[in-house]
Amino acid sequence: MTVPHVYSLSGKRVWVAGHRGMVGSAIVDRLRSEDCEILTAGRDEVDLRRQAEVEAWMAKTRPHAVFVAAARVGGIMANNTRPAEFIYDNLAIEANIVDASWRNGVEKLLFLGSSCIYPRLAPQPMTEDVLLTGPLEPTNQWYAVAKIAGIKLCQAYRRQYGCDFILAMPTNLYGYRDNYDLTSSHVAPAMIAKVHAAKLAGAPSVEVWGSGAPKREFLFAADAADAMVFLMRHYSGEEHVNVGTGTEVTIRELAETVCRVIGYQGRLAFDSSKPDGAPRKLLDVGRLADMGWVAQTGLEEGLRLAYDWYLAHETPR
Ligand code: GDP
Repeated sequence: MTVPHVYSLSGKRVWVAGHRGMVGSAIVDRLRSEDCEILTAGRDEVDLRRQAEVEAWMAKTRPHAVFVAAARVGGIMANNTRPAEFIYDNLAIEANIVDASWRNGVEKLLFLGSSCIYPRLAPQPMTEDVLLTGPLEPTNQWYAVAKIAGIKLCQAYRRQYGCDFILAMPTNLYGYRDNYDLTSSHVAPAMIAKVHAAKLAGAPSVEVWGSGAPKREFLFAADAADAMVFLMRHYSGEEHVNVGTGTEVTIRELAETVCRVIGYQGRLAFDSSKPDGAPRKLLDVGRLADMGWVAQTGLEEGLRLAYDWYLAHETPR
C-alpha cells in the first residue's frame, strides 16, 4: 500500500520531550535512522511543569517537530494513591509544551495519550469515537482526565490557530528502560521483576495482584515508537488514532507467559486485596491498519527482549 507522505522529518530539528522514559527513549532510538537532528532536554535543564522554563528552552532551540512523550506515568497503584501528581503534572506538562509549540511556530507535534482515556465499560474493541461516552475507570481517572484535556488542547490549537498537532493513543506498553519499581510500575515489568526474584529465591509461588481475569493489550515500546514516527509522517487530522496490536490476553496469561520466558515453574498466587482496574482495554486499531501500519513484535518475543534488557541493566530487587 502506498501511504501519502504529509510531513518530512528530513533536515528537521525534532524535540523528543520525555526522552529518558521508555517511550521517549524508544522514539529517540527510532529517529536515529531518520535524517533529522534530535533535541532532548534533561530534567536538570528544563522542568516541563514550569511554563517559563519550557518557553525559554523552546525559544532557544526552535524545534520544527515535537513528540510529547513526557508524562507522569505509573501503574494501577501509583495512579490510585498519588492522584494529585498524576493530574497536575500531566496537565502542566501538556499545556506548557503545546502552547509554547504554537508560540514558536512548531510545524508538527504529536501528543501521546493512553487507552485509559476511554470509558471503563466501553464496547470492545474500543474505536476512537467511544471517547467521552461513559464514566472512566476510577483507579486511573486522574491520569485519564489529564490526557483527555491534552487531546482537546491539541484539537483546540488546530481549530483556532491551524496547528498541525496530532494525537496518538497507545495501549499498555512495555519494553526497554521500563520502570521496575514495584510500587509504581505497570504489570508487565512488575511480573518480570517478581518472577525473576521468585526464580532466584527458589520461591514456590509468585504474587499477582487482583484476580488475573482482567484483559489487557500489550504493545512493545519500540513498535509504538515506530507507529509514532509513522503517524508524524503520514497523518494529519484532528481525530486521535489508536495504537496497539488489536489482541488481548488475561493478566493470568501474561503472568504465565512471563514465567515461561524466565523459566520459572512455581505457582501464581492471586492477591484479591489488590484492585483489578478496568475489566478490558482492547483497542480497535483499524484506522491505523488502514493507513498501513501494524505491530511487528509478538508478546512472548517482546517479553524476552524486555527481560534481556532487565537482566543487563537492572539490579533485581
Ligand atoms: P492498568 O492497565 O491501568 O490497570 O495498569 P497496570 O499495568 O498497573 O495493571 C494491569 C492489571 O494487572 C491490573 O488488573 C493489576 O491489578 C494487574 N497486576 C497484577 N500484578 C500486578 C503487579 O504486580 N503490578 C501491577 N502494576 N499490576 C499488576
